[in-house]
Amino acid sequence: MHYNIKDFFLEFKTPFAIAHGTRTGTDIVLLTITHEGISATGEASLPPYLPETKESVRKFMEEFFDRHTDLPEDIHSSINTLHSFATGNTAAKACIEIALWNWFASKAKIPLWKLLGLNNHPLPDCTYTLGMGSEEEIQAKITDSREFKILKVKLGSGDMEYDRKTINTIRRCTDKPLCVDANQGWKNKEEALEMIGWLSHQNVKFVEQPLPKEAAADQLWLFKRSQLPLFADESVQGPEDVAGINNMFHGINIKLMKCGGISKAMEMIQLARKFQLQVMIGSMSETGCAIAAAASLSSLADIVDLDGPMLTTNNPYDTVRYVDGKVILND
Ligand code: MG
Repeated sequence: MHYNIKDFFLEFKTPFAIAHGTRTGTDIVLLTITHEGISATGEASLPPYLPETKESVRKFMEEFFDRHTDLPEDIHSSINTLHSFATGNTAAKACIEIALWNWFASKAKIPLWKLLGLNNHPLPDCTYTLGMGSEEEIQAKITDSREFKILKVKLGSGDMEYDRKTINTIRRCTDKPLCVDANQGWKNKEEALEMIGWLSHQNVKFVEQPLPKEAAADQLWLFKRSQLPLFADESVQGPEDVAGINNMFHGINIKLMKCGGISKAMEMIQLARKFQLQVMIGSMSETGCAIAAAASLSSLADIVDLDGPMLTTNNPYDTVRYVDGKVILND
């Protein structure tokens, strides 16, 4: 088996303001594996607030492929080998997993969702993410998002008045259902509760990660009082975290880059269902490669947040289509 590792910088349509700062794009590492004349690609997305870097991902992949020069006969042995190789490195593992799944799907001449034993309909709605910004910027994004039935807005600026103004601006433009992602930006549980109470009158479906992940006691307090469902994002990384947040959130946001790949995401979904948690499939800012891989799990989710290709300018993969506010999975 041959492999090739390439760096890429995925650029945002508009610099993207979130609670962690403003960015123009995201570092990506693309992996292509070639074996028996079939090539397949995987992707690691590396936003700056997470520990992995282009260098760490490349090093992990080189070490892995140095030790494992041949593809095992079946996908499950490949995945087991990968996850028993080392701990952590979830984006690097997600990248290798995506390449492996794509390779085995290509070899079988079937789409990935079918190889996973899943369906391509019915599928849940996909959210369209609006960043924080000026009224003109928000209005432009809402115009771009007209096909989508659910919008998602990033709040958590640290200034509750600013957050309210953002919602008021959106509500002047559209009455579509909104999901709110506070990105750990609300530091005070009483203020967060007050904000959630206000949002519950603004056609908001749920609030994602209202408080910092370290504030577990405050999260529990908020969970018992919240007028809206609360989704965990930063508070839940992989399968090992799901049981621990079961009594603090109503749902989880699963991302391939956080959990280590498709197999881990499927484990998380199983656990979430066991605990009656709602499931969102989300993403970092990713190209069509990783977004298509995540989208193949759509039929297992209540909602997907996979609008990355709508928000970037130089996505090299034409793998994802949006129709009627859903990510379409081809036959
Ligand atoms: Mg989030």
